[in-house]
Amino acid sequence: MRVLAVEDEPDLLGSLLKALREDGYAVDGAPDGEDGLDKAESYDYDAVVLDIMLPGIDGWEVLRRLRKTKKTPVLMLTARDAVRDRVRGLDSGADDYLVKPFELSELLARLRALIRRSASQAQPQLEIGDVTIDTAARKVSRQGQEVLITAREYSLLEFLALHRGELVTRTMLYDHLFDENDDTLSNLLDVHVSNLRKKLGHDFIITRRGHGYCIE
Ligand code: CA
Repeated sequence: MRVLAVEDEPDLLGSLLKALREDGYAVDGAPDGEDGLDKAESYDYDAVVLDIMLPGIDGWEVLRRLRKTKKTPVLMLTARDAVRDRVRGLDSGADDYLVKPFELSELLARLRALIRRSASQAQPQLEIGDVTIDTAARKVSRQGQEVLITAREYSLLEFLALHRGELVTRTMLYDHLFDENDDTLSNLLDVHVSNLRKKLGHDFIITRRGHGYCIE
């Protein structure tokens, strides 16, 4: 999953990026509204964390312009607990909001819920055959036994599982699993897929030659 964080306070942006990376996301940062809007329009992020008070174009304007072309889930960060701001945010097409200061753990939980909802998946547990993916704990089990997988393998598996039954192209995977600072991605997808097959069964992930992958 790939997330964009738009925040002009350098310390907060830094800790957001760090926490998101530690939680296994590919993540890009933007220090102002212009850059944020540019990135949000250029990439298909799985979610955007958007501060309202930004220099130049503010979060409201970023959201308004983004909604003309994209449905990317947006979590707004508001500076105070003003009902007016929350109502305006939700009316403008925001999907959720969080009042500063907030706990990073709450932000991460809300993001997980947003991403699940946008994949029409209300439950945190995904059951596929004898494999269970717990998206809240980021754990995977097969026939009730926990399967140890790496953060990258988890991200790949979760993305495929949330798009179950659909063809997921290699381009989609590169866009959603790697961020703009990541330049080590060549051939890695095949390695991750191969490792997941060893752990979850050879037919768990199907290769569509020349097109991509699919979980059925
Ligand atoms: Ca701000």
